[in-house]
Amino acid sequence: MKIEIDGERLVREIEELAKISEAEPPVVTRVVFTPADLKARAWLKAQCQDAGLAIREDAIGNTFARWVGSDPRAPIVGTGSHIDAIPNAGRFDGVVGVLGGLEAIRALQRVRFRPTCSIELLIFTAEEPTRFGIGCLGSRLLAGTLSADAAAKLSDKAGCSVEDVRTQAGFTGSLGDVKLPPDYYKAFVELHIEQGPILERERKPLGIVERIAAPASLMITIEGSGGHAGGVLMPDRHDALCAAAELILAIEDAARSGGAIDTVATVGICDVFPGAINSIPARVRLGVDLRDTSLARRDAGLRALEGACRAIAAKRQVEINSELLNADAPAESDAAIVAVLRQACEKHGLSYLPMTSRAYHDSLFMSRIAPVAMLFIPCRNGYSHRPDEYASPEDIVKGTLVLAETLASLTS
Ligand SMILES: [Zn+2]
Repeated sequence: MKIEIDGERLVREIEELAKISEAEPPVVTRVVFTPADLKARAWLKAQCQDAGLAIREDAIGNTFARWVGSDPRAPIVGTGSHIDAIPNAGRFDGVVGVLGGLEAIRALQRVRFRPTCSIELLIFTAEEPTRFGIGCLGSRLLAGTLSADAAAKLSDKAGCSVEDVRTQAGFTGSLGDVKLPPDYYKAFVELHIEQGPILERERKPLGIVERIAAPASLMITIEGSGGHAGGVLMPDRHDALCAAAELILAIEDAARSGGAIDTVATVGICDVFPGAINSIPARVRLGVDLRDTSLARRDAGLRALEGACRAIAAKRQVEINSELLNADAPAESDAAIVAVLRQACEKHGLSYLPMTSRAYHDSLFMSRIAPVAMLFIPCRNGYSHRPDEYASPEDIVKGTLVLAETLASLTS
């Protein structure tokens, strides 16, 4: 069996999908359940139907395109990723795993491979947190790590709830039915661009992900006291932004001082109220993201952050409250799937790097209900989530070829 990937068609399809965007090309903006997202879904479903795949959509819009195997009741081998894109993004994040997954299936069909268990291409809803403030909405519901009630209550900036938006988009079933049974997938493999510089730097076409870091995020509110920038004397001030500045540096220090390369902390949101040049900041909201491949280290980081909040609140006589938005556990890839990925690379003489994914992906949540692994391809300069995100056709073809080999091994 000599599997061949139709790279020209795959690249053309990636370009076609990139044109379905809320922004002018080459910018891709495709936020979940907007007209662009719905149009992209329709286009993609048509491609899957052309390949003879049977399509099912669940109540949150996760889309399953199935190539039925000779034993249709056997646990399924899944692959897939997402097609939603944050504002001002590029064309490869998520899309390589979806269209690459589709091409891998078509390549197997072309060599008349017949899978015993079914192969399913899964397109996850809202991997990006852009609209509802939480990443991996679809896969969290599939895995049951987010309850249907909690999901229904999430809302976007305009105040529209998930419940309203998804039903308007035509997804009307019960969110309670989204959760998959634990033995649904025999294996799940996600192809994705690295979104970092390591593969390019190491000149490796492929990365086999062995673990996915555990993200945690918090919203911290600092209440000081405001007042006139001229009238209130320095000894009398309880400036919320000055307290925030100390806290931001304490967070950076907590991540650096542990000495582990996989510990990262970021304050990506700083809202200052009232935000006037001649007014002392009375209230600040900080959005904090803390990640690690070790749950113990990540949780130690969270405790260090709590300690810093208490110390700074006491020192500056301000009130600091932190709300934990989410704290997920890290995931280990399944050793058996990793071995199959390695064999597939070796069969084609492709070198690979064992890797850690510090970005999280739908596979992190799929790992709660299925054995998972991920395959990375390089992206130029490590750029992602920006319009000049780029993966070469050669690398996309290599990743798709290894994915196709892996799906074949897992289903025969
Ligand atoms: Zn992605």
